[in-house]
Amino acid sequence: TVVTRFAPSPTGFLHIGGARTALFNYLYARHHGGTYKLRIEDTDRKRSTQEAIDAIMDGLSWLGLNGDGDILFQSSRADRHAEVAKALLDSGHAYRCYCSPEELEAMRGTMKEEGRKTPYNGYWRDRDPSEAPAGVDPVIRIKMPRDGGATTIKDLVQGDVTIENDQLDDFILLRADGTPTYMLSVVVDDHDMGVTHVIRGDDHLVNAFRQFHLFKAAGWDVPAFAHIPLIHGPDGAKLSKRHGALGVEQYREMGYLPETLKNYLLRLGWSHGDEEIISENQAIEWFDLDAVGRSPSRMDFQRLENLNGHYLREADPGRLADMIAPALGVDGDEGLKARLAAGMPGLTQRANTIPQLVDAARFYVERPRFPLENPKAAKLVAGEGPAVAKDFAETVLAGIENWTEATLHDALKNYVESKGIGFGKIGQPVRGALTGTNASPDLAQVMAVLGREETLARIDALPL
Ligand code: GLU
Repeated sequence: TVVTRFAPSPTGFLHIGGARTALFNYLYARHHGGTYKLRIEDTDRKRSTQEAIDAIMDGLSWLGLNGDGDILFQSSRADRHAEVAKALLDSGHAYRCYCSPEELEAMRGTMKEEGRKTPYNGYWRDRDPSEAPAGVDPVIRIKMPRDGGATTIKDLVQGDVTIENDQLDDFILLRADGTPTYMLSVVVDDHDMGVTHVIRGDDHLVNAFRQFHLFKAAGWDVPAFAHIPLIHGPDGAKLSKRHGALGVEQYREMGYLPETLKNYLLRLGWSHGDEEIISENQAIEWFDLDAVGRSPSRMDFQRLENLNGHYLREADPGRLADMIAPALGVDGDEGLKARLAAGMPGLTQRANTIPQLVDAARFYVERPRFPLENPKAAKLVAGEGPAVAKDFAETVLAGIENWTEATLHDALKNYVESKGIGFGKIGQPVRGALTGTNASPDLAQVMAVLGREETLARIDALPL
């Protein structure tokens, strides 16, 4: 059965590219009824902080991409990694190298001059360890094939990718201080975790060739590889800060919903016909690696925003009210939060982001102050408008028994018909009175949500 893993290095925040990698691993596992595991690659103790680990975990749980089962911390497995390096030594697949930094530096220069692509020439590969200099702690290096052949990886996204073996040098498995290298840790962990599919960014493709031979040397099954293209900015350059936010946390702070980001990242590099809006269940049903493109996909921030608008309109109103309440200063006010939730159907028609929703909703929690600052809105409540609004309030609204959106809708309609006036004549001053703006949700809905008392109070406050 399929086992995938997401293996972030905790050196900062959860990058949106990383989040997409996690998503693809998650979906691939779910689609195939397998397991999706999380491994924190915290072997670089200087760069891995608890803060960074927490940031990644927070981002993943916000997106619902926590791994199945326990999280594996790579740093806890250093002994196991060293044990594998020693076993490779015993089986003749690895050797001790006693080269000093100076010797390696000189070697690098020579190899370059000779036009060889590897920095290390295998000096200690076939040398007798009895020649080893005294007092030098050796590193352990793997023996890469020296057969003049080539290595091909059948990548599930990139297709067959081939490299000449003379480009693969005898890389270090275990450092002189006995700590494992990244290359060794990744392979041992992938094996021990039973990983069947390594799905990750294509910046790791070159590592895959080295890892391939390490799996082989250890006598282990090589997992399938799938290297997905990186995310680029709208201009086609590699995504960077100048394009916009890189961290998942920033998108969360900007008020994007997790389902938006997930749907967006899914479509970034993977497609299913022309489908744009894809629920998680649909994604699980449809996701496979053959539909992942080979070329980098470009971030389109406008598209992300529009998609968020879609998910805002689908979201539970109470959840949205909770999200915008702090910005509106009504976090502790259950009554006003209920009002915001009731107004959500109209409000979400007017917003694609949480900040836009906050702006659109402000009138529900704050009474307009006259004179209105917005000149367009001020025009609505000028001239004979207030008198008409007050007449409507006294002769119609005051008498309505059943205060619902439907009855209020009819009341407006009947008033306009009986007076023989255009809708704007009544609609504009009422809108100004109730919302202090010139653009708001449907008035019957606004009146229904505000309630009789508040509606009448606001019209009453309109200066004549
Ligand atoms: N830790 C690596 C990274 O964050 C990923 C390694 C892998 O997926 O094999 O880029």
